[in-house]
Amino acid sequence: MKIGFIGLGNMGAPMARNLAAAGHEVTGFDTAAPDPEGVTPATSAAEAARDADVVITMLPNGQILRAVADQVIGAMKPGAVLCDCSTVDVDSARAVAAQARAAGLGALDAPVSGGIGGAQAGTLTFMVGGAEADFARVLPLFEVMGQKAVHCGEAGAGQAAKICNNMILGVTMIATCEAFALADKLGLDRQKMFDVVSTSSGYSWSLNAYCPAPGVGPTSPADNDYRPGFASELMLKDLNLARQAAESVAAETPMGALARQIYEDFVEREDGRGRDFSAMLPRFVARNG
Ligand code: NAD
Repeated sequence: MKIGFIGLGNMGAPMARNLAAAGHEVTGFDTAAPDPEGVTPATSAAEAARDADVVITMLPNGQILRAVADQVIGAMKPGAVLCDCSTVDVDSARAVAAQARAAGLGALDAPVSGGIGGAQAGTLTFMVGGAEADFARVLPLFEVMGQKAVHCGEAGAGQAAKICNNMILGVTMIATCEAFALADKLGLDRQKMFDVVSTSSGYSWSLNAYCPAPGVGPTSPADNDYRPGFASELMLKDLNLARQAAESVAAETPMGALARQIYEDFVEREDGRGRDFSAMLPRFVARNG
């Protein structure tokens, strides 16, 4: 397929590289980042989009997505699909999809989980909102860039799934870290804590797969001095999106709200910026309740 790829940062570059390596014809554009191997450079977003069957965007936020959509939708050929893989607010995802459909294009919101490692290895999970026919057309590309793609529903459903998943993740990471810090103060060995909880009802992905305690459980960013991994400021971004989504539908999300506040303090007022989101553990250990 001919693919226009816009946003070649930490995630976009390896995704575009994998598509090119699989034999697709990829034209890329980024306002700052260099072009990855195998990707033909374009001088504008519109140029990257012009002949493409599918235009993929991987951008920082909904405002930038809306601006890029304004540039590319008029340039895309009829029947092509605009597929946004960024994590953005549900309203922006729905607005861009409506704009694309009104111009005779297909549209998908397809945010990912799996992080930079998953983007490099081609093992991302895609959660996708949009029409079934558009999903079917882009599925072969999801299969190159990832190992699983779930069609979640109509426009915005992919972003809704992503926001809900990451709200659970933020809350469980904080719960896991505060429990480890409490265990420390009670004199419980961390390895014993892991052995019990990882096979008991307190288990979770945060503990079992991404243990925040160094030297315990599988290798994780905790074993690399909490270098990300998944940076705390990206978790804060997702918890802000969850708050915005909850407000827009009057949903009560008290745990999500508290997790958002704690990550905001960690990133804005403590030493959390640039550290993995599991660095909540040393934060709790250093504090007295
Ligand atoms: P990044 O900042 O590394 O990449 C974004 C790229 O977009 C940059 O290279 C930037 O120059 C480019 N860009 C900005 N404005 C542009 C414009 N107008 N036109 C063209 N290019 C433009 O960010 P990232 O880590 O690659 O994340 C991208 C998206 O994926 C975000 O929405 C993020 O929330 C989401 N995400 C990231 C991760 C992760 O672990 N990094 C995991 C899941 C989802």
